Amino acid sequence: MVSVSSVTSGGRIDVGILGATGVVGQQLTALLADHPWFRVAWVAASERSAGHRYGDLAWRLSSRMPAEAGDLRVSPLEAITDAPALLFSALDAAVAGDAEVAFAASGRHVVSNARNHRMDPLVPLLIPEVNPDHLSLLDPQRRARGWTGSLVTNPNCATVVVAMVLAALRPFQPTRVLVTTLQALSGAGYPGVASLDALGNVIPYIGGGEEEKIETETLKLLGRVGDGGVTNVDLVVSAHVNRVPVPDGHTAVMSFDLTAQPSIEDVAAALASFSAEPQARRLPTAPPNPIVLHTAQDRPQPRLDVAFGGGMPVHCGRVRRCPVLGYKLVAMGHNLIRGAAGAALLNAELMVARGLIASAATPAALTIPRR
Ligand code: NAP
Repeated sequence: MVSVSSVTSGGRIDVGILGATGVVGQQLTALLADHPWFRVAWVAASERSAGHRYGDLAWRLSSRMPAEAGDLRVSPLEAITDAPALLFSALDAAVAGDAEVAFAASGRHVVSNARNHRMDPLVPLLIPEVNPDHLSLLDPQRRARGWTGSLVTNPNCATVVVAMVLAALRPFQPTRVLVTTLQALSGAGYPGVASLDALGNVIPYIGGGEEEKIETETLKLLGRVGDGGVTNVDLVVSAHVNRVPVPDGHTAVMSFDLTAQPSIEDVAAALASFSAEPQARRLPTAPPNPIVLHTAQDRPQPRLDVAFGGGMPVHCGRVRRCPVLGYKLVAMGHNLIRGAAGAALLNAELMVARGLIASAATPAALTIPRR
């Protein structure tokens, strides 16, 4: 196994980004610039970008490209032996499948945004607030696959929003969920949806199995882990997805039943007080409150709320009775941060904090600032 031995003088662990030139890869680069534990030391992308200085390629975020990353030379995916031991993957799904396996087999710990391995029984599909115990799959994963590294994934960007809400409501036992999403343009990557299709429009279809991802990933996320994989939670989810002309922030309009039939006040209190292992451990990317509950009738709104707390909280509002399923609400989260780059960062932080990524710098020695 390649150990995470490359610790800089500032105590930060060198990490790499696969797909560093895409919108998620750039968001990862931006978040990692100020990260207290990790430092971007290596970037890789397609042959279109390989060989170029990272700083000379197009930067598509409104923030400035971090100077530290600008001088890195983009590697091709084939340069496996140059890669550091901890890798974030923001690769296009067309190449992520084989590439991530090759890196995990070579001893790298791959923390992926791509959909390819999410439903693999031995790959944790992880939201640290929802199912941190699913990291126990890493031992059987290594044994079964013969990998010296590991592979962990984060869910689809709309699924994160739905699963966080349902995790907070787990004590009330939801069994049926109907969700309609209004998904931002940045969820389609770059260049994404053509402007003439998107502007002034609602597109009631998103390719890539987006509805199925919400319907199936949610069940694995909330499921029970064993040595051979995860037993899905006993829940049925029906999803309608729509692409809307919003830059960032996926909204999920949800109706659901709750077996315990709590009052609306109890549902609101469970959402507002939801807290989990990342908060207890004070992980650097963990928001103090994973769910922000809004009481104003016209919130959450992507434009007003998506950047709050660095984009890591899920926002909820309009918690009320549903005449069909019993309860309904509106939820919203930043697809590029809580739904992608920030999600992967939080996953890696949890792995380091749990000692799953061997490092010369122990978590106790790393500073843990509050946001
Ligand atoms: P994107 O903007 O299209 O970026 C794709 C990245 O993959 C680029 O760095 C690209 O490199 C690289 N790539 C493409 N073909 C390649 C090849 N043949 N060999 C090596 N690298 C290749 O996509 P994105 O939106 O950032 O999404 C990245 C991944 O995260 C996808 O799997 C996506 O499904 C997932 N995801 C996205 C979101 C979101 O909100 N956007 C949320 C959750 C998960 P070049 O620039 O060199 O072409």
